[in-house]
Amino acid sequence: MIAIGIDLGGTKIEAQIFDASWACIDARRVETPKSYTALVAAVVDQIAWADRLSGAGLPVGIAAAGLISPATGLAFTANLPAMNMPLPADIEAAVGRKITYINDCRALALSEAVFGAGRGKASVAGLILGTGVGGGLAINGALTPGISATGGEFGHIPAPAHLIKFHNLPVIACGCGRMGCFETLVSGPGLTRMARHFTGHDLSPKLLIAAKTTNAKAVLAWDVWCDLVAELLITLVFTMDPNVIVIGGGMAKIAGLVDDLSRALSRAQLAGFAIPELLIAQGGDASGARGAAYAAIQDRMHV
Ligand SMILES: [Zn+2]
Repeated sequence: MIAIGIDLGGTKIEAQIFDASWACIDARRVETPKSYTALVAAVVDQIAWADRLSGAGLPVGIAAAGLISPATGLAFTANLPAMNMPLPADIEAAVGRKITYINDCRALALSEAVFGAGRGKASVAGLILGTGVGGGLAINGALTPGISATGGEFGHIPAPAHLIKFHNLPVIACGCGRMGCFETLVSGPGLTRMARHFTGHDLSPKLLIAAKTTNAKAVLAWDVWCDLVAELLITLVFTMDPNVIVIGGGMAKIAGLVDDLSRALSRAQLAGFAIPELLIAQGGDASGARGAAYAAIQDRMHV
């Protein structure tokens, strides 16, 4: 056994133990507590469980919702009861060793780049389209480093003015504190917002896709959503020009997504230039634990 990964989300905390071939040999899932003290205790208990099975001292990587400010060490997270609390430091103090703590979307991106759909590619952009929107950039199997921890917050790039204006889309306050972020329109709730805007009905993504067969307004809502996502994808292309873009999260399960987004991305790209291959993430939602565990090994090699 070589590393422990923990997926720390708003509803569950899953610990996974990995062997030398990166197979998950045991996993344990508990509910995410509602108070900060209980949250720290639950994570510490998961690490203690993994230590008992694996022998103490393996590198621990935690993939968690939200961000940790490198300047203060405090958490910025809407989904965990840890807002403005020094969560990584409190966990480290309790378990008595350093841990690697990374954003869950970045962990998923790293997992896909190393073990999943992007395996073997030199440069991989990961984009998670779920309840929230985020991701990460991986070069040669390592996440791009940064000073602020906000790299990968693709969902909080502003949505493009030309599409907003042409379709009279709502420019609303995002949960991050900014206005008009991509996330407000291209996340799962964002797609429902698009459905309401074009059809007048609060359709879930699933119902909107079903409605496309009979309802031209539903088709328009979907097409504009694809154009919006394509603008986010072309932003990644213009920034990084990756070999592939791996798409994960709940929206990645929509049938035909890659074809529709590839067409929209081709329209968004400069005339005559190629687009990267779009791939659907191979790992499940819990594969962030593997990405975090892998990052923990990388951290230990660099110490
Ligand atoms: Zn935002």
